[in-house]
Amino acid sequence: MDGPSGSGKSSASKGVARALGLRYLDTGAMYRAMTWWMLDQGVPVTDAGQVAARVAEPVIEVGTDPAAPTIAVDGVDVSGPIRTREVTNAVSAVSSVPAVRQRMVALQREVIGAGGIVVEGRDIGTVVVPDAPVKVFLTASEDARAQRRARDLTDDPAATVQVTLAEQARRDRLDSTRTASPLAKAADAHEIDSTDLDLDEVVAEVLRLAKE
Ligand code: C5P
Repeated sequence: MDGPSGSGKSSASKGVARALGLRYLDTGAMYRAMTWWMLDQGVPVTDAGQVAARVAEPVIEVGTDPAAPTIAVDGVDVSGPIRTREVTNAVSAVSSVPAVRQRMVALQREVIGAGGIVVEGRDIGTVVVPDAPVKVFLTASEDARAQRRARDLTDDPAATVQVTLAEQARRDRLDSTRTASPLAKAADAHEIDSTDLDLDEVVAEVLRLAKE
């Protein structure tokens, strides 16, 4: 399942995985974990050369239970710290570095293994698993996406809907225009617009596609 930020991918992917008894992988959390580590190490995240030079260092581990997904860096649970505004605003720069993507895609394919998993991200249908049996591209209007994101942001009182809207538009622009694996709908993906759908309706639609 691919799509821009705030499209509802995480809730929908977890819902589908739980309904089908499958595992779940949040690839955005992996890019966030890498970004969190770079910031923690004091690596200037807009310097692609310095980011690339350190990319092999952090040990990133993910748990794929959709009821309780986990993400750890060097043995430390970073589920909370990777959701801060600081990480959110730095993650596009880090994830545009080809060496970062190379390492993340290799890790993701290891976790995916033989399948039986719902994977969410930006390049899953196009790059990570081009032969996935069901591909969904989830969208929503910019306003709906910003409202959802603002509700998720708890660490920063300055993150009003307006600020979030601007930051989200910037992140989506960077994610869609980068040279390395930009956010894109795979030619064979089913597009679902979630603007006027609630979570149960999105999950039901994906389950219907999966049964076809
Ligand atoms: O999904 P989420 O918003 O947590 O993703 C955080 C960031 O990670 C995205 O804005 C994007 O820069 C990057 N990402 C990516 N490829 C993926 C998943 C996420 O580049 N497959």
